[in-house]
Amino acid sequence: MAGLHVRSLLVTGANRGLGLGLVQHFLRMPNPPQWIFATCRDPKGQRAQELQNLASKHPNIIIIALEVSDPTSIKAAAAKVGEHLGGSGLNLLINNAGIAKPNSLDNETPENMIQVYTTNTVGPLLMGQAFLPLLKKAAQGSPGSGLSCSKAAIINMSSYAGSIEDMYVWDFGQVVSYRCSKAALNMLSRCQSLAYKEHGILCVALHPGWVQTDMGSTGSFKPPLTVDDSVQGMLKVLSSISEKETGAFLDWEGKVVPW
Ligand code: NDP
Repeated sequence: MAGLHVRSLLVTGANRGLGLGLVQHFLRMPNPPQWIFATCRDPKGQRAQELQNLASKHPNIIIIALEVSDPTSIKAAAAKVGEHLGGSGLNLLINNAGIAKPNSLDNETPENMIQVYTTNTVGPLLMGQAFLPLLKKAAQGSPGSGLSCSKAAIINMSSYAGSIEDMYVWDFGQVVSYRCSKAALNMLSRCQSLAYKEHGILCVALHPGWVQTDMGSTGSFKPPLTVDDSVQGMLKVLSSISEKETGAFLDWEGKVVPW
């Protein structure tokens, strides 16, 4: 992680699972960020208790309410983050929040398709738009012409389940709305990488592995990876990627995932 020096970052869905794991690992870095904007939809609720406890011990954690399916909530969060940062920018935006509905092709519904797409795909689109000024500011304030996660980056938490070429674990779960939303998120990541490159912002889609979280553990199999394994791997990847990787679909070990 020696190559990762992030002054400020924001994680969506930071109250549990991989989002909380990311916050914990950034705190443990030898050079922790000055600001960690840990966002969740219900900061005062029971599901945010662990994050609240962590924030009470670490003043660099700022908890902000953010519902990624609500454009008004996204805009309000961007304004709050901007206030905290004063004149400086945001280095790293991690679009981690996501949902899955375990339906088969036969049972898939319009409601599921729309809800999952709104959260997993439209959310990251609007987040990128709302936080673009702060990401640009971070890139402008960093020396050098290359791209890196220490400078300015958008990380979209995707899934191998969104790979059209591979159709990963189809026999274990069709999860059609989820697969479609992540395939679309991959396309969004590619579009963001092309549009935001000129502003000095790196963009990737990242598969965290199959991880022991509430989402990862919904089936009858125990996922092979702990949150710590996955997050450690992802942070190593984030510390090493540059302009060569912008627009790529990578996994937690840095391997390229087929589109
Ligand atoms: P969890 O179900 O454990 O956590 C999901 C997080 O997203 C929670 O913090 C949840 O908040 C938040 N969230 C859901 N909907 C919204 C919303 N509308 N607005 C704001 N926050 C929301 O999932 P994981 O930690 O496992 O997954 C994190 C990401 O990694 C997801 O994008 C997922 O698709 C991806 N992923 C996970 C894999 C795995 O094996 N675990 C495999 C591949 C990809 P709340 O507590 O309020 O519900």
